[in-house]
Amino acid sequence: MLDFTLIETGEEFEQFCEELLLKKGIEIISKPSRGPDYGVDILANVTVFDNLGIKEKQRVLIECKHFARSNRSVRESDIGNVIERAISTNCNKYLLITSTTVSSVISHQLEGISNNPSIPISATFWSKNDLDKMVYEFPDLKERYFIKTSQSNTALDLNIEPKINLGIHSHPDFTQELNSIIKIWNSKQHHVLFSIIRARRELETQLISSGSISEDEASSIANKMRDEAGFNPDDGIIQFCEKRLFGGPYYQLFASGTEHDEEPPNTATISLQFMRLLAENEKNKETTIHTMIIQSIIHVISTGIGLNAHDETRGCIMDFDDNMTDILVGLKNGPKYCNSCEKQILRMGAEFLLELAKSAREYLNSIQDTSKTLIRMELRDKRKEVSGDDYDFDIALSFAGEDRDKAELLANALKNKNVNVFYDAFQKAELWGQDLYSYLSDLYRLRAKYCVMFVSEHYSQKLWTNHERKSAQERAFKENQTYILPIRIDNTEIPGLLSTVGYLNWNNESVATIVKLIINKLKNDKTATNNV
Ligand SMILES: [Zn+2]
Repeated sequence: MLDFTLIETGEEFEQFCEELLLKKGIEIISKPSRGPDYGVDILANVTVFDNLGIKEKQRVLIECKHFARSNRSVRESDIGNVIERAISTNCNKYLLITSTTVSSVISHQLEGISNNPSIPISATFWSKNDLDKMVYEFPDLKERYFIKTSQSNTALDLNIEPKINLGIHSHPDFTQELNSIIKIWNSKQHHVLFSIIRARRELETQLISSGSISEDEASSIANKMRDEAGFNPDDGIIQFCEKRLFGGPYYQLFASGTEHDEEPPNTATISLQFMRLLAENEKNKETTIHTMIIQSIIHVISTGIGLNAHDETRGCIMDFDDNMTDILVGLKNGPKYCNSCEKQILRMGAEFLLELAKSAREYLNSIQDTSKTLIRMELRDKRKEVSGDDYDFDIALSFAGEDRDKAELLANALKNKNVNVFYDAFQKAELWGQDLYSYLSDLYRLRAKYCVMFVSEHYSQKLWTNHERKSAQERAFKENQTYILPIRIDNTEIPGLLSTVGYLNWNNESVATIVKLIINKLKNDKTATNNV
């Protein structure tokens, strides 16, 4: 429901009515009169067709009453003798527009006038409920009159929803770093609720493999990702892309899109390829990369709510336009807004953006340059160069702590046969202090060719008790079946894993036979067969 108390004066309300009438195709003859009026507010012409189909113009007396602030209905004494006034202004129609309602006396009186054949005048009223429905058709009117701006009356084109749900695609190379900053951001402000999104592998590998991709393709992937993660259509998605991103003839650092042109964009793609290019000559590459990732996210959120990018060099988050050297100045400065952007943010009432930037600065200052993001990124690039292969590991083991003894037996046996296996104890240094669950899930999903999953009661408990988005993950399992190789320890069902998938039963096999089957699977894979 529209809040009419946002319209401050009667004059402003008349102005609003006039604009609404024009939008509805009603021709205004005389504008609202100012000063001591004679009860005449607006004179207008409407075109109607009579029963014979003959077009005729009719003159309407329109009266506007704005009592929203005192919240009372329009009474008889407020409008006087309608018939007399209509006749004296040569009108055969009378319309009362009010930002509240009308008293029942007035309602009956206007109805009576219209129904009385001896009075040559028809009369009606539009109450706030009617206006509410009408304004719905004209979003620009709504924006101008019914959206609060905190201080000045500078008309800004923006639409700050009460709360933004934002899913950020968990890129396997910096999942941990994303987790850390998102935790901080969620604790420091409550306007944007950040969460990590994990999607089906096929979808995500489209983003993390090399090559190039158009804005539209990227946007369509983001839309699918949002859907599969169980988010609402209006929720925002930010995703990272290894590919070169192009819109028109140019490669870009960002692209944003939406399914419907009139809505603000709700997907954004950030090109890591471009970031690496930018970081190439920087001394402190690791920090530069982190700053870029964080700054890009803030930038995307800022543009999403109506702040404009600028290409003047001001060392600002919004200074991400056109010129690479400008962008680097902004990165050196850290996540900050320039004075002019900060002023605009305050006018928009979007202080949470300042909070995002401030806590990001503190976070970036607090981390030491020992994270392995860049090493992970470079490793992937080198592996791709050498083998043309997107995967860091042949096999990743996914298991519950309670089943570690079995996993370890298999890991050692695979290692002895020169299978490139991911087993957490082999990667201790890298995993120290990390959130194992999310690390492993990203890893088995994206960085290994196959995932051997030890299916047990413990495993199913670990998966489902800690995860809010069960159905999304269940679906992910279904979609990911070609690379999940399940080994059954007991009879627990994992939702999403079909029972017809070739399970190996730990109790019926030896470690040696399992290793043999896995090696066969990898070999068969090389000769392009693919059956589990
Ligand atoms: Zn700026």
